[in-house]
Amino acid sequence: MRLLIIDDEEDICDLIAEVAERHGLTTQSVTDAEQVDSILNEFSPDVIMMDLMMPGVDGVELLRLLSEKAKTAQLCLISGSDSRVLNGARRLGSAHGLNVVEALEKPLSIQTLKTFFESVTKSKKDSDVGVRAQALAKGEFCLYYQPVVEISSRNIKGLEALVRWNRPDQGTLLPDAFLKQITDDGLMQELTLFVIREAIKQAASLFLSGRSLTMAINVTASTLLDLSLPDQIAEACEQSRLPTEKLILEVTETEAMRDVTRTMDVLLRMRLRNIGVSIDDFGTGHSSLRELQRMPFSELKIDKSFITDAPTNKDSAVIMNSIIDLGHNLGLKVIAEGIEDQKTWDLLNEKGCDFGQGFLIGHPMAASDIHTWIEKWEKGSP
Ligand code: C2E
Ligand code: MG
Ligand code: MG
Repeated sequence: MRLLIIDDEEDICDLIAEVAERHGLTTQSVTDAEQVDSILNEFSPDVIMMDLMMPGVDGVELLRLLSEKAKTAQLCLISGSDSRVLNGARRLGSAHGLNVVEALEKPLSIQTLKTFFESVTKSKKDSDVGVRAQALAKGEFCLYYQPVVEISSRNIKGLEALVRWNRPDQGTLLPDAFLKQITDDGLMQELTLFVIREAIKQAASLFLSGRSLTMAINVTASTLLDLSLPDQIAEACEQSRLPTEKLILEVTETEAMRDVTRTMDVLLRMRLRNIGVSIDDFGTGHSSLRELQRMPFSELKIDKSFITDAPTNKDSAVIMNSIIDLGHNLGLKVIAEGIEDQKTWDLLNEKGCDFGQGFLIGHPMAASDIHTWIEKWEKGSP
């Protein structure tokens, strides 16, 4: 493992390097912040220990640089200032998609450093860091698409893009098997950009072939903290000549409500560019009605746990019906996910739910199967 130490105090660099080398790490120190950029071009570190207070450059600037050049490294922040500053920097680092694993206050003791390097070397063994970064670089991730239809008319509304990992030795993996590690590796931003570009390309090709379908993309709240995202999306749409109103971003209720102000900021920017925003897995988080009213959502997706068993479970049916009413009263379009049988479809139809998605309508499918599915659906099956 390679460790980069960024600290203007040479003594501290030496101390850290000594302890690190005893734990088997190869080290490189830099005392001048101006040199960090060029060193990152030659020495690609697995771990970075960085002093937030470097003369000449501020720590925030350095965090931005690291987020561009060393995203997958495990980052340990060090600072002589109090823990609030350190924690603020830690949050900022995470918002930049960095993998901040530790924040240490100066003065550093040998014991603190030992504990840190023990955990770093152990986590390296545990988590095969680099596997997912390589998979991304090799193009092993791909998108499946699941149709969403209007319940009253059966008209096709659009598709939701769902990521898959074609792992050569393990077959096609579902998001639950890798999204958490992707986040821990600091790769979520990169994966999201891939998903956005790929989904936009697919939607644009359908659009050009005369199919004006919406394309929904799942994003995490941390990706939304990237303030350049709305422009990047609008640009990708323009390049593919896809009208931005065909695109919908889905954020889960739990994620959206974690930092309401920041999320609202980015969602509003999306809406101003005519991009739709949907609150996903609704019913599993804790939004207050006030927040729901304030957030600029255009759609609400009821979590599948209330839909799948609605015909047999009275409680689920009551919750499903209440959410449909709530959504409609707030002026939102309501989508039910997890429709697996005709009975559920009929209940939703009676209740006036706008759109539906689920195995009854179509499983998530590869891009090459979309046209066949459309033809079949339009002929009236299932
Ligand atoms: P989600 O956005 O709520 O997506 C719906 C999930 O329900 C999908 O699981 C889909 O395959 C599954 N599903 C659809 N219809 C039915 C049904 O009738 N019955 C049942 N039991 N399940 C159904 P999947 O593809 O495994 O995705 C799981 C979650 O992973 C997604 O939930 C979404 O939150 C996340 N995810 C997927 N793709 C991405 C992505 O590109 N980026 C991010 N950040 N998250 C993603
Ligand atoms: Mg979704
Ligand atoms: Mg969902």
